[in-house]
Amino acid sequence: MLHQIKGLHHVTSIASDAAETNAFFTQTLGLRRVKKTVNFDAPDVYHLYYGDEVGTPGSVMTYFPFHDAARGQHGTGEVGETVFSVPMGSLSFWADRLGAGAADVQRIDRFGEQRVAFRTFDGESFAVTEVADDSRDGWTGNGIDPDHAIRGFHGATLRVQDTGATAELLQFMGYQKAETRDNVTRFIVAGGTGADTIDLEASATAPHATQGAGSVHHIAFAVENRAAQLEVRKALLDTGYQVTPVIDRDYFWAIYFRTPGGVLFEVATNEPGFDRDEDRAHLGEGLKLPTRHESLRPYLEQHLQPLGD
Ligand code: ZN
Repeated sequence: MLHQIKGLHHVTSIASDAAETNAFFTQTLGLRRVKKTVNFDAPDVYHLYYGDEVGTPGSVMTYFPFHDAARGQHGTGEVGETVFSVPMGSLSFWADRLGAGAADVQRIDRFGEQRVAFRTFDGESFAVTEVADDSRDGWTGNGIDPDHAIRGFHGATLRVQDTGATAELLQFMGYQKAETRDNVTRFIVAGGTGADTIDLEASATAPHATQGAGSVHHIAFAVENRAAQLEVRKALLDTGYQVTPVIDRDYFWAIYFRTPGGVLFEVATNEPGFDRDEDRAHLGEGLKLPTRHESLRPYLEQHLQPLGD
């Protein structure tokens, strides 16, 4: 069993509109935009990052906004819901706030935790859940005070047809089975980033998801550094997974592999972080391009959709 994985690093989804995504994650959810860059593999599309003050691993929601992308069809083989951690007593605040800015807002009990579930304008499923023992500081720069601010992820739900092989993989990655209720089994990793929970939802009859706007593209798990990442990569390869080489994403190093349930997993390093090319007071303000795309700057600055702030 691996011991290097420390919970979630980031979650990356597809959206249909950059400005609307930016407004929702900064103004409605109150996160900080910590990086404005482009999809390294398709540089005419943004890659936008939202999180806490510095984009601490475990707090970072990222987007590829493909303009006017068709909506994804939800089903199995995908991340079904991404869940943020909020302070105890803040749920009424969130129910009111999301009621005005999101769809399908409802209060739900999951494993004894109270949450407000909602969907974005693209139909992507999220929830905020009250967590008692979460010492992380949320970003309060967008008019949401510390008693209500999102502190980062609590976890995510993976929806798969057959949970057996994915459960085995999570346990190999260092997660421990905690509890099962109905068709959902909770896994928790000890000593993580705070984003330590994965709920595995069995959905035997749902069709396989089709990716599009409102779909999670991949979910990334955190390791401290490149040495730990290489250990994880070797262990996954030795177990029979097809894992990509290490890829430099400028703010972290990444490896990717497809799970038996169909979800794309990434393992990302906590180093070097989002302040490697901008100082902390101005994170997310400038358009940052990887060196190989720097020559495209004049074109991109003219053609990328303005974000509104
Ligand atoms: Zn990623």
